[in-house]
Amino acid sequence: MKLHELTLAELRGGLDAGRFGAEELARHYLERIGADRLNAFIDVQPQRTLEQARAADTRIAAGERAPLLGIPVAHKDIFVTRGWRSTAGSRMLADYVSPYDATVVARLQVAGAVCLGKTNCDEFAMGSSTENPHFGPVRNPWDEAAIPGGSSGGSAAAVAAGLAPIATGTDTGGSVRQPAAMCGVTGIKPTYGRVSRYGMIAYASSLDQGGAFARSAHDCARLLTAMAGFDPQDSTSLQRDPEDFAAKLAAPTSGSQPLRGLRVGIPAEFFGPGLASDVRAPIEAALAALESLGAHRVAVSLPKTELAIPAYYVIAPAEASSNLSRFDGVRYGHRAGAYADLLDMYKRTRAEGFGAEVKRRILIGTYVLSHGYYDAYYLQAQKLRRLIAEDFRAAFASVDIIAGPVSPTVAWNIGERTDDPVQNYLADIFTLPASLTGLPGLSMPVGFGAGGRPVGLQLIGNYFDEARLLMVAHRFQQASDWHLRRPGG
Ligand code: GLN
Repeated sequence: MKLHELTLAELRGGLDAGRFGAEELARHYLERIGADRLNAFIDVQPQRTLEQARAADTRIAAGERAPLLGIPVAHKDIFVTRGWRSTAGSRMLADYVSPYDATVVARLQVAGAVCLGKTNCDEFAMGSSTENPHFGPVRNPWDEAAIPGGSSGGSAAAVAAGLAPIATGTDTGGSVRQPAAMCGVTGIKPTYGRVSRYGMIAYASSLDQGGAFARSAHDCARLLTAMAGFDPQDSTSLQRDPEDFAAKLAAPTSGSQPLRGLRVGIPAEFFGPGLASDVRAPIEAALAALESLGAHRVAVSLPKTELAIPAYYVIAPAEASSNLSRFDGVRYGHRAGAYADLLDMYKRTRAEGFGAEVKRRILIGTYVLSHGYYDAYYLQAQKLRRLIAEDFRAAFASVDIIAGPVSPTVAWNIGERTDDPVQNYLADIFTLPASLTGLPGLSMPVGFGAGGRPVGLQLIGNYFDEARLLMVAHRFQQASDWHLRRPGG
């Protein structure tokens, strides 16, 4: 087996037994990244990576044992990093180097993980396709004509293509789950507040949440364990006892029925006519597989699902317009080269620094927050958000998890939808509800649709029920091999 085919457990074993070193492992991945054709990375600095790897080797040689010690990780370029550029995929921050590390980055570094670099993403995490980074689109490793999903498309593509064993991402309205689904990897967005937002370049603060990509639920659990935890630097961080998500995956006692008694809610609204048949078939097969493991389906209803799109596409732009006001050419980032006066400098800086999708959202956000429209749009959207949360509260009274598709279609072609932003927004229908309510959600590969493009099953859990989501996915993966399929055979 080649190094990039090993699971985290296998990598751990190999590193601890001295079969290979962290430096050798990092070099192997850097070589693969060097040959990457997907445009998955924005910033790679081999010297820094190798320095961290050698430090990990020293710790391992001294007898230290820790889950991620010496394990390479790639960070979505939304997390600020000291030393590496922190661009948010934007021209505005194209050369920006942060003076501090995001909490997620710092936690992983303390854990001994080795940073491989920063992954490409939609500008300020706005998008579902990773077609709108300043640094060019990312390609899907399963089919280079296809988008990898977004906005964390670089991270998902990197894990799928074996350019990194694990990667971080952020999910505001689906940006971990949807690219995970489209790239055939496992991705989890935890409960809002589990993972610190400190140093995560803000898009929509009441929705933004860090998450994890890996090839299996087991590997995701290890990464999420290291990422999560209370952070006094983030006022919305939740004070909970640390959880070891990987330890909670332990083997079931009930033999061939490892999911016996699990009640899986199937929301009718997630299986309407908008769901493409080539996605529906693998989803149905996966639900049947869960049943064969002992779970049973319970019909539930999330009647306000449709309202998630208008609610999200008011709230997220509103928060974005406020968050992005800091990019004024004064404090940091791009500044226009020539201008007449201060106002002209602001205008030129923002006109040059932001791409079309970001501008569109700033315009929408500013509009819905403006005097006279606030009640009609922003306040109304907040009310819808509460109603959507009520739907879930009612559903979780009778089920343990909710299952359905992640995306109504498989990955589309690069360029196919660039002229029609609304079509992109509509495709977020199944991921937005968990975002608006702050519930944890996971995507795992369950097969392929048209053109051999991957399909993901979404599992949504109740608040703080990440361990159960990961457990269900892990037991499904122990009994199936979709997560072991690799692009190119
Ligand atoms: N596709 C959604 C959007 O464009 C979600 C993006 C995200 O989760 N960062 O806003």
